[in-house]
Amino acid sequence: MGTEVSVTLWHEDAGQGRRAIDAVMEQMHRVDKQWNPEDADSELSQINIDAANGVATVSTELSLVLDKALYYSRLSGGAFDISFASVARYYNYREGIAPQPDLQSKALKAVDYRLIKLDVSRRRLHFENPDLQIDLGGIAKGYAVDRAVALLEQRGIEHASISAGGDSRLLGDRRGRPWMVGIRNPRAAEGEVALVLPLQDIAFSTSGDYERFYLDPESGERIHHIINPGTGKSAGELMSVSVLGPRGFDTDPLSTTLFVLGVERGMALVETLDDFDAIMIDADGQVHYSSGLTD
Ligand code: AMP
Ligand code: MG
Repeated sequence: MGTEVSVTLWHEDAGQGRRAIDAVMEQMHRVDKQWNPEDADSELSQINIDAANGVATVSTELSLVLDKALYYSRLSGGAFDISFASVARYYNYREGIAPQPDLQSKALKAVDYRLIKLDVSRRRLHFENPDLQIDLGGIAKGYAVDRAVALLEQRGIEHASISAGGDSRLLGDRRGRPWMVGIRNPRAAEGEVALVLPLQDIAFSTSGDYERFYLDPESGERIHHIINPGTGKSAGELMSVSVLGPRGFDTDPLSTTLFVLGVERGMALVETLDDFDAIMIDADGQVHYSSGLTD
């Protein structure tokens, strides 16, 4: 998943606590391996080939994630779209490489979730454009974090914090006190926080333009990993979005979605969702809160 995973938990028995951490890490590695687009043998790489050429059969787990991804595409009018990868595959953020304009515009035609045909009950997947590719980078971490929390709950653990990059889930409190969760200052060194929230029993996802990016040497523009599916380019209105809610499987895709939508449309969407709140830091560094947090 290209990120760091961390687990903090409380257990009376140190050995059992350590085994619980091992189980979480094993789960994270399993999800990472299964849906790693850079591993030619992963399920994701395989279905990207098969669904573009015909019909792919996907695992029950993948069909669940695809179904959720398509739900957020419909809800957001396409701001969240796992077919963003049709264009994003040609970017290399580490080396500062963007696709040439003609390749970019050809690839952009394949960015459209409506071309992804999923039959959930039969676990069949087909792409109606052969150039279409999907990537689960905007949803897999939240899913994995939820699965990991379920593992801890099965073991009777009541106090834990699990995070995979910007996606966290808190189980219970920190033994009598809330967990303190920081939102990074998007333009400061790693570790410097803009705000800190006391939280418990909640999922918390942050999407930021500082995770994977380069600065275009000519325009100085920040080219980063969150793509506006309408243009095939980096979404520019915000620096970071955090979403709070009951599950990482929802807060993860929602943080990416709201990042693309921007302040006005993003806040309007989150206000329609009962269990979710959002904090946005716009391009000027102004902080915006949804109505559930303004107190
Ligand atoms: P997050 O890690 O939740 O901030 O989401 C960022 C990741 O989501 C990127 O690294 C991409 O893998 C993926 N992504 C980027 N743009 C989109 C988009 N418009 N819709 C869905 N996923 C996206
Ligand atoms: Mg996200």
